[in-house]
Amino acid sequence: MIEILKKLPKTNCGECGELTCMAFALQVNHAKRKITDCPFAPGELSEVSSSKSPVTLEDNYGRVSDELEKETSQTDFKKSAHAIGGFYENRNGVETISLKLMDKIYELRREGLFENSEYCRDSWTKIIVYDYIRRMGEEPLSGEWVTLGCFRNTASHVKAFQKKAEEKIADVFNNNLNGLKVRCKKFDGKEDPGKIKADYVCRFDLLPRIPLYLCFWEADEEYQASCKLFIDSNAEAYIDIEYLAYLVESFVELFVQ
Ligand code: SF4
Repeated sequence: MIEILKKLPKTNCGECGELTCMAFALQVNHAKRKITDCPFAPGELSEVSSSKSPVTLEDNYGRVSDELEKETSQTDFKKSAHAIGGFYENRNGVETISLKLMDKIYELRREGLFENSEYCRDSWTKIIVYDYIRRMGEEPLSGEWVTLGCFRNTASHVKAFQKKAEEKIADVFNNNLNGLKVRCKKFDGKEDPGKIKADYVCRFDLLPRIPLYLCFWEADEEYQASCKLFIDSNAEAYIDIEYLAYLVESFVELFVQ
């Protein structure tokens, strides 16, 4: 699976119908998909696509999250908390970092990630939080808004992202700006004067240092409503861009429900 993944563009464009290239590589490894289903896969990949060792997607996410958990447990909690906007505490020698991911509060301890004092079992949540914490935000946020396609290796991801996230919001709230405002408030969004001229701009903090800006243009006689999502141009200093794309898509899924 790793051999297949290495040769895919890793842009998570979604053209193959899978959310990520990793998911696609696993499906190929299980012989559930053909390598040719990815229009961007190089021809020589057919030589490595017939591995016999089955690994489930959950196994793989679990392995990645275990590795990151081990690495994160070694980090300097105090320094990390300061860098990523988390809340550091030392209770009788037990260090913790608390932080909000979308609408939930998590607590990092040396032994792992906890939600309401229960060990978190969701691999994707752990991968995102551990990666965010271990990176310690190498650079400050720039304040410059960019779309996902501005980051390296995401060019072919743009189309799927527009479909799964931006067009979804525009469709659901077409002719319903008030409904959008109510939903934004429910998700703790803060109306933002914005750097972009739009009918409505709202900021969400997906993680303390990962703002997401939603810009919405109402429908008029000629056009349907439209939506654009922007992130800070230095977001990659805080989180892997693949994880960020997944995070934004998960947020939108909840948002439009
Ligand atoms: S590049 Fe796009 S089409 Fe190819 S595997 Fe990745 S997500 Fe699927």
